[in-house]
Amino acid sequence: MDVELINTGSELLLGRILNTHQQWLGRRLADLGRPVARQVTVPDRSQDIENAVRDALGRADLVITTGGLGPTGDDLTRERIAALLGRRLIHSPEIEERIRGYFASRGRPVPARTHVETHVPEGARVLVNRHGTASGLAFHLSPNPYRAGGRPSWLMLLPGPPRELHPMFDQELVPLLDEVLPVADGFRSLTFKTTGIGESNMEERLLNPLTPLMAAGLEVGFCARIGEVDVRFVGRGPQSGAWIDAASIELQKAAGEFIFGQGDDTLELTVVRELTRRGMTLALAESCTGGHVANRMTNIPGASAILRAGYVTYSNDAKSSALGVPPELIARHGAVSEPVARSMAEGARRAGGADYGLSFTGIAGPGGGSDEKPVGTVFIGLAGPEGTTVTRQANRFDRETFKYASAQQGLDTLRRRILGLPPIQDRVHRS
Ligand code: ATP
Repeated sequence: MDVELINTGSELLLGRILNTHQQWLGRRLADLGRPVARQVTVPDRSQDIENAVRDALGRADLVITTGGLGPTGDDLTRERIAALLGRRLIHSPEIEERIRGYFASRGRPVPARTHVETHVPEGARVLVNRHGTASGLAFHLSPNPYRAGGRPSWLMLLPGPPRELHPMFDQELVPLLDEVLPVADGFRSLTFKTTGIGESNMEERLLNPLTPLMAAGLEVGFCARIGEVDVRFVGRGPQSGAWIDAASIELQKAAGEFIFGQGDDTLELTVVRELTRRGMTLALAESCTGGHVANRMTNIPGASAILRAGYVTYSNDAKSSALGVPPELIARHGAVSEPVARSMAEGARRAGGADYGLSFTGIAGPGGGSDEKPVGTVFIGLAGPEGTTVTRQANRFDRETFKYASAQQGLDTLRRRILGLPPIQDRVHRS
């Protein structure tokens, strides 16, 4: 099945907004066995949108566009595609009702310009938008006038804002795809998320156990990011399910302790889930990560059940006043040291009244390093009912990546503790 993606939006081409739809939809569609074969970004200009859609319809079974369904002057996709396909725009009372409800629930009057969003091109299926006002649309072109022999295609239009597009894709588009464009060859895929192990080490561990399955037809892919390696299994044909089940067992045997989730799981989600399951709580003491870990934790719905407090103690004074770190300890060992990380973790646990205290103190750079503690050094403390551990890590990155990598290691240290696994000492990462 040929799938093409058209992202509309001048701001994407001007570099004002990162085209995250390309990545998000590309990954989702690949996981669904419908990988994107071609992607193009076009400005918000009628002719460019029309040309791109016509070209794609000349080749693909499925064409997805993003953006340009809103009510403003530069939102042209709906009208332009209706004109291209020669479909009349018909007012939909149901969509009007939904838009009224959307604004009523927010206590706001309905803006007159949203009226264009009630227009549905004749014969199009409506994809409900539960998080905004612009409905998605799906057209079955059969025959497709732009394709040799009139071969049919589907054209699906999705809104631009990610918070609207993501749920619409999962709740509306995926079921529609399964109904109208089923994957014929028994495609299955499963991605495991791992942390605490490098890509080549992972590959080495898996090579032997997976060789027979790979010879039979299983595809195995690795994708390394900061502090994570994805392991992706893909199978096609009647055996695909059995191969993936067998490969999952081999992965579990070879590197089970490093697996923290599947699909789109994140480490913070896993930690919130595991702590919630056990009815346990956490307090954070962050210095060099500057609240980054608290931010990530609070992005997870339900984090309030487990997160008691987050202290951003950037100065020495704050470490002492908020967490009770003795000033002489800082004077003797320095703020970036094993004893201070230990004291911060224990202080956060005590002050926050939590089961666990997790602390971060390190040198983000570019200045401030020494021979003994070079830039990138970070001490991560974890205090809990079982006692306190401190690990030393080396994360030589730019400041933002340093925070992210340190957070990954801290969250993983906590995950491992909860699961009864030993902490990983001295992980060295260099940019
Ligand atoms: P709206 O009702 O907001 O106008 P729309 O369907 O017309 O929705 P656009 O106007 O094209 O969509 O985009 C709205 C916003 O959605 C953009 O300003 C941008 O913030 C975000 N957006 C659009 N396309 C992308 C993309 N490819 N990647 C990431 N964000 C995007």
